[in-house]
Amino acid sequence: MSQSLDPAQAATLVFGDQRIDLLEGESVLEGLERAGVDAPAGCRAGTCCKCMQQADNPPPESQRQLRPTLRAQGFFLACQAYPKEPLYMASTEPPAPISARVVSVESLSSDVRRLRLRPAQQFTYRPGQYLDVLHSSAAVRSYSIASLPSDGLLELHVRRIEGGLVSGYLHELEVGADVSIRGAFGQCFHVADDPDKPLLLVGAGTGLAPLLGIARDALDQGHRGAIRLVHGGLQPDRLYLRDELAQLAETWPQLSIHPCVLRDAGASERQGALDQVAVQVAGSTLGETRAFLCGDSDLVRILQRSLFLAGMSSAEILADPFDAALSP
Ligand SMILES: Cc1cc2nc3c(=O)[nH]c(=O)nc-3n(C[C@H](O)[C@H](O)[C@H](O)COP(=O)(O)OP(=O)(O)OC[C@H]3O[C@@H](n4cnc5c(N)ncnc54)[C@H](O)[C@@H]3O)c2cc1C
Repeated sequence: MSQSLDPAQAATLVFGDQRIDLLEGESVLEGLERAGVDAPAGCRAGTCCKCMQQADNPPPESQRQLRPTLRAQGFFLACQAYPKEPLYMASTEPPAPISARVVSVESLSSDVRRLRLRPAQQFTYRPGQYLDVLHSSAAVRSYSIASLPSDGLLELHVRRIEGGLVSGYLHELEVGADVSIRGAFGQCFHVADDPDKPLLLVGAGTGLAPLLGIARDALDQGHRGAIRLVHGGLQPDRLYLRDELAQLAETWPQLSIHPCVLRDAGASERQGALDQVAVQVAGSTLGETRAFLCGDSDLVRILQRSLFLAGMSSAEILADPFDAALSP
């Protein structure tokens, strides 16, 4: 986006080719409303967050109430924003679909397959976010991204759901096939605002995909604090990528892996409910920890509640529940 406006147009809202000049002392929300834009609004006091908008360069004071991942994506509260320079507002158009080629497929467990895709065009994302797969039937399903942009390929872990339309399609794809994708979406990713903050990464099943991306991203960005990854499954054979995770933890002493199962635990797994194990693993650091919760939506909601009740700040609990899609 161009940043070369005449300084005389300071305090202008810029939407592509359109401009709205703000009046003296007017907030972004008031300017939008005066210009006839149907902008959402609520308390107008920076509390309810209903007036949230996105821009390339939001005024910092309009972001203070928001989570770090929202701030990192340029979200801000329009009722609290009094820009002193042109404000480049984000497009409201959804990202356009692009094509991606399957370059490798690998079975990770009896029902999880790893797909690596090479996008035909630049695909911008943060590890831990998710993309949409667009199926020829018009069905759209989301899959979390386990890779880092520097890997050059998009890594997905897809669990085959019995009778599932898109997971079945992704399990049948062969190397060389093209898939239509769009994205990226989601707010469950690492923000390097405090390199010593303990991080707690908790998920079950393919919830491991975003957690792997987040852990690698934090390490890549020089995170020094403890990174505790708790991966849950029904029984030991549902836990996958164990060797790869163990190797990563050997390379990075700040990373520890905590496999957890509901039944048949062996010597290398804890047995118990994932939320209780997560609270135990965080231990006395829970109050200062940031948590990332991924996987089945019911489980994520249980985890959110348990961690909050155990003393974690809700602003530090980031989650992307894998809600099942509505049928096309
Ligand atoms: C933000 C987000 C991230 C996601 N990330 C991943 C990921 O990394 N890996 C991954 O494998 N999936 C992920 N999902 C789930 C994925 O989007 C699909 O919902 C899943 O693959 C099923 O789609 P389908 O078309 O195969 O099944 P559908 O055709 O939608 O459903 C077939 C039948 O299975 C049921 N069903 C759907 N989902 C489940 C389920 N999870 N368990 C049991 N029954 C189910 C449906 O109710 C229906 O009866 C994510 C979802 C979201 C919202």
